[in-house]
Amino acid sequence: MPKGVLLVGPPGTGKTMLAKAVAGEAKAHFYSLSGSDYVELYVGVGASRVRSLFKKARETAPSIIFIDEIDALGRTRSSGEGGSQHEHDQTLNALLVAMDGFDSDDAVVVFGATNRPDTMDRALLRPGRFDRQISLSLPDLAGRVAILQVHAGAVKLDPSVDLPHLAKGTPGFSGADLANLLNEGAIHAVRHRRATITMADLDEARDKINWGRETPRALTAGDKRIIAYHEAGHALVQVLSGDDTAKLHKVTIIPRGRSLGSTQFTPERDLYNHSKEQLLSRLRCLMAGRVAEELALGSITSGASCDIQEATRIARQMVFEWGMSPLGFMALSRAEGETEFASPQTLHEAEHHVKTLLAENYAVTTEIVSEARAALDAIARDLIERETITGDHVRQVIAVTSPSILKA
Ligand code: ZN
Repeated sequence: MPKGVLLVGPPGTGKTMLAKAVAGEAKAHFYSLSGSDYVELYVGVGASRVRSLFKKARETAPSIIFIDEIDALGRTRSSGEGGSQHEHDQTLNALLVAMDGFDSDDAVVVFGATNRPDTMDRALLRPGRFDRQISLSLPDLAGRVAILQVHAGAVKLDPSVDLPHLAKGTPGFSGADLANLLNEGAIHAVRHRRATITMADLDEARDKINWGRETPRALTAGDKRIIAYHEAGHALVQVLSGDDTAKLHKVTIIPRGRSLGSTQFTPERDLYNHSKEQLLSRLRCLMAGRVAEELALGSITSGASCDIQEATRIARQMVFEWGMSPLGFMALSRAEGETEFASPQTLHEAEHHVKTLLAENYAVTTEIVSEARAALDAIARDLIERETITGDHVRQVIAVTSPSILKA
């Protein structure tokens, strides 16, 4: 039997729940403590607490000791000086001694949870200590559907609620985020005096979690027009790209959090691998907001700053990491930002390819938006009038105004 098991994964992936479940299944006592609680204690207090916790666990065996945020306790010793460092070393030493002091006959297993195993003291990872690692990742689409179904049991859902659809729109959500999503949806439903949670409540909850609360701002007619064209540009190119992995969900010019408007698409499935075509189409969608402003209003605004950053990040990765430039099958960086692989000349050349990639696609985007100018105007007009429109509405507008360019 292992003495120590390290649960590794991002926050919200159920590390605590898993440890508790193991204790429940094994009918063992469950003791838990958080590493961060021990960081600011007086010298010696942390160490004595660790000793007494292990003593108690052995007396009441079988038991499971769960140490959350073990990296706070178990980070590499003596990299600094001063009282808190000294205290930290003592606590960590007490933990090491305690773990060496019992054997598998004691029926005590220590579970540690962290998302930074790399920062932990090597001594903790040696055989006989935390030598088993279990990694927990964020749930995939099927996992999210199952998690939503579990939490949905506790609330009243309207029959119109489509959980698989909701799961599609929440890539990157952890189990805790999904529980929060249903909770926020319930709060929204109550606030609107509804007896059941509707799809609209959950849509609002998702937007709030992703982008923040709706922030009422007094927009002038001029601002509204600029934002409408910007978002219309994103939406138009998103639909015209024909990328079936990302379907346009809705477009809005209602400010939320720090953003002025947003164009949202729902991935049809979780993407772990992106084709060059998908990346180029993503680049053009990002550029289309600025392009639309330029074409329709004759001037540009600061509204595209996030789009510019994201597009540049994608273009750099295509050239530096994914071998998608004329430099071909060649790694230029070990990790994002590090460039120790290549010579200065090659790096110079790579930078040039990044620039070209961005410039060429900006030109292509300008061409696409100009050709569909009638559709752009119609989408922007509808946005100014209604503030939020659905992806289906955008597709319809394009079919009516620019039928020739809509791909089947
Ligand atoms: Zn934008």
